[in-house]
Amino acid sequence: SSDDEAEEYLFKIVIIGDSAVGKSNLLSRYSRNEFNMHSKATIGVEFQTQSMEIEGKEVKAQIWDTAGQERFRAVTSAYYRGAVGALLVYDITRRTTFDSIGRWLDELTTHSDTTAARMLVGNKKDLDDIRSISIEEGKSLAEEHGLFFMETSAKDSTNVKTAFEMVIKEIYSSV
Ligand code: GDP
Repeated sequence: SSDDEAEEYLFKIVIIGDSAVGKSNLLSRYSRNEFNMHSKATIGVEFQTQSMEIEGKEVKAQIWDTAGQERFRAVTSAYYRGAVGALLVYDITRRTTFDSIGRWLDELTTHSDTTAARMLVGNKKDLDDIRSISIEEGKSLAEEHGLFFMETSAKDSTNVKTAFEMVIKEIYSSV
C-alpha cells in the first residue's frame, strides 16, 4: 500500500568508549570516507545521518559521536535517549580502554533500552604489531555480555562499513 511506501526508518545509534579510541574517525570513515590522523576532540553534540537500503527500503541511521564529552565523564542521559543501537569501542593497543568497557556498558544499560543492538568494537586493527588485547579476549568479553563483536580500522577502513551495517540490520530486523 502507499502507507507502506511512506514508512520511514530512522534509527539512533550512539558510539561510546574512552577518549582517543577512534570514535570520531569511525564515524567520519563511515559517513564521509574520511580519516584524520590529528583529529582534535570536538566539543558539543555531533551526529551524522547515513542511509542504507534494506529489502528495498531506505533505512537511515542517525549516528551520534560523544564529541569529547567522555573526557569529562559527562556523557549525559540526553545523549543516550532514544538510542536503539550502540557501538562500544576500545583501542586494541591500550588495555585501559578495554577495561573501561564494563563501565560504558553499565552506563548504556542505565540510559537506554535493553533491547538496543550492541556491538563491541576493537578499533585500530591496523596496529596489530603493537596490540595488547587479543581477538580471543575481545570475543570472550562480547560473548559474556551478549554483544556482537568486530575488530575495525578507521585508518585503513577494515570492517567499518560492515560493523555499522550489521548494527543497522539488526535494529531493522527487530522492529
Ligand atoms: P575519539 O576521541 O574516540 O573520537 O578518537 P579519534 O577518532 O579522535 O582518534 C584518536 C586518535 O587515534 C587520532 O589520532 C586518530 O587519528 C587515531 N585513530 C583513530 N582510529 C584509528 C585506527 O583505526 N588506526 C590508527 N592507527 N589510528 C586511529
